[in-house]
Amino acid sequence: MTDYKILPTNHEPRPDEIRLVETLIHHRSQTCELCSSTEFFSEIWDVYLFRHSRMLKRASRLTPGVPVGVTKLPTKMIPICFKCVRTLEDVIEPRKHHDEAEWRATLGRKEAELAAERAAAKRRQPPTLDSL
Ligand SMILES: [Zn+2]
Repeated sequence: MTDYKILPTNHEPRPDEIRLVETLIHHRSQTCELCSSTEFFSEIWDVYLFRHSRMLKRASRLTPGVPVGVTKLPTKMIPICFKCVRTLEDVIEPRKHHDEAEWRATLGRKEAELAAERAAAKRRQPPTLDSL
């Protein structure tokens, strides 16, 4: 994999600068040092030719007509897995992940609370001579 570079996400090359040549699946695995269980997962990358280099960019979908390759990568060791984390005494509660609708509803509720506080504060202020 040393002949590939990760395309920076903030760099959007012009369409005439790059050519999609392949979609590559990285078949990855990681083994927990505590329980020795191994997890398998995939990362999917589009491989572009860009200025005589091969560049990787995360793929969000398959492109029809573009060949798909698979590369199996060496297993990595991780200190703890999601199954073992519950065995720790000082584990914090997992953070809840909101979907977009829940997140927008929360923002709307907080905005409404702030608006109600501002309105209540405005009502509590005595009138000034200028406002009369
Ligand atoms: Zn584990």
